[in-house]
Formats: sequence, structure tokens, C-alpha cells
Amino acid sequence: MQLAIVNNISELQDTLVEISKQRKRVGFVPTMGALHDGHISLINIAKQYSDVVVASIFVNPKQFGPNEDLAKYPRSLERDLEKLRQAGVGVAYVPTVEDMYPEGFSTTISAGKMGDILCGKFRPGHFDGVATVVIKLLLRVLPHVAVFGEKDYQQLAIIRRVVRDLDMPIEIVSGPTLREANGLAMSSRNLYLLPAEREIASQLCATLQLAAKRLFQGESVSNVLEESKNYLVLKGFKPDYLELRHADSLEAMVNFNAPARLLVAAWLGGTRLIDNILLEPS
Ligand code: AMP
Repeated sequence: MQLAIVNNISELQDTLVEISKQRKRVGFVPTMGALHDGHISLINIAKQYSDVVVASIFVNPKQFGPNEDLAKYPRSLERDLEKLRQAGVGVAYVPTVEDMYPEGFSTTISAGKMGDILCGKFRPGHFDGVATVVIKLLLRVLPHVAVFGEKDYQQLAIIRRVVRDLDMPIEIVSGPTLREANGLAMSSRNLYLLPAEREIASQLCATLQLAAKRLFQGESVSNVLEESKNYLVLKGFKPDYLELRHADSLEAMVNFNAPARLLVAAWLGGTRLIDNILLEPS
């Protein structure tokens, strides 16, 4: 199927009716654009689960705080559409803000207590904005499968929770984090990094890996987390948090017990980077 580009809910639904008449399974990958290979890897996963992939590009104002980077968030629509075409996507849904939030819109999905921890502590309301737009997109597309990246692990855990809590008949599939050769997790926000910062940024993932090794060796969780944060500061980061959490519930973990997730958010200059790794029993 040639890439169809739709900009509003009625064009989207007309296109989806045609697809459902052909009894095709739909896979969905929501994005905020500025696409990189990490996004494309999710599209490739979606293709394994479906006959037609729908990808959305929407920079969601509701998930940005008043002092965050909404205005400067990278936008490269023509390049993105070409990447979607190359990746074999069937439908690109590129709604406007008015299409997504028409006059009078006033409902918010609360991400609950999972939205108040980790990044939620530093970005109040962020995960309510994420949950609201993702649920709207899922209801508009009604895919069989939707694919999300482990790169945004808290987001993935919250979406799994919300979809389960609201009985939405949609399978949520996750894809692993794609990284640059130096280990830096691919992210649209990496475009903000200066060349020298890109090298330093690779220390974020290296720090997680070293911390994981020390935890498996039996060192105390609090020591490892404290020293790893100090190391990041030494390298020029300003960490928001570095925490060990239960892999599914995201509850705090005082004593290391695999499977667990080690999650970090840290500023490097004007760029906020996040990363996480799974610590699983071998
Ligand atoms: P975004 O455009 O940043 O909102 O991301 C859209 C989707 O791509 C989300 O499910 C992200 O978790 C996922 N994603 C972002 N970066 C990566 C990456 N490096 N590897 C795999 N998936 C990613």
C-alpha cells in the first residue's frame, strides 16, 4: 500500500474503513516526529504483527510543561514522511492541534501514582498529557497492536497500565532501545547536543551498565546509586534521578532483586536525557 497521508480524524477514519473492509490487521506506532532509526525499528516490529502500519506524528502540547521545549522541539515533516514511505508504512496520521483538541476539549486521563514518580516528579502533569493523547490516538486508530519503545520506559509502563485499567482491546508491544555506536540512546532531543556533549552523553548508558554490574556483585543499592550519580556529576551531568525500580510496577526497590529496571534522567547542558536498562537474572 502506498503511503496515505491524513491530517484529521475523518480522513483517518475513511482510510481505516477501507483497510478494515479488506480484513487487514492494523499496527500502530505513535511518534512526535524528528524520526530516527529507533522509531523505524518500532515500525518494523509493528509490521511483524500486522498487515498495515499506521504511524502518527504529533507534537503533543499537553505533555510539555510551561518552561519546556515545545516551541523548539525538532520538526522535519517532509523528511519524516519520506522515512515512513521507505519503511513501508501504510498511513501517516499527522493531526493538527485543533484536530486532536477541538474547541471545548476538557478531559484528562490521569496516569495515577505511576505518573508522579521518576520523570513525573520533575515534569508535573507530563504523563497525564501522554496518557490523554495516547488513549485518544488508540481510540481513533483502534489498532490490533500498538508498539512503544523501552527508551521511554515509564511511559511504556503507564500505557500498559492505562490500557489494562480501561479494558482497551489492544495489544501493547514494546521494542528495545536503539543506540548510537557509542551507546547513547537514540532520541529526537539528541539533535540539541553540541558535538562535545554527544561524546559525554555516552557516559549515561555506560554508568547504568557499570551500576548494574556492581549490583549483581552484591554491592548495596544505595551506595551504587549514590556513587553513580556522583560520577555523572563529575562528568558534567546534572542528574534529576537515578533509581532502581521493579520492572513492571515501577515500585522502588531497596534491595536488589532481578528483574529490575535501572532508570536515569540527567541534564547535559540544556538537554535533558533519559535512559534505562533491564537487570535480569542470567
Ligand atoms: P517520540 O517520538 O520520542 O515520542 O517516540 C515515539 C516512540 O519511539 C516511543 O514509543 C519511544 O519510546 C520510541 N523511541 C524513542 N527513541 C527510541 C529508541 N532509541 N529506540 C527505540 N524506540 C525509541
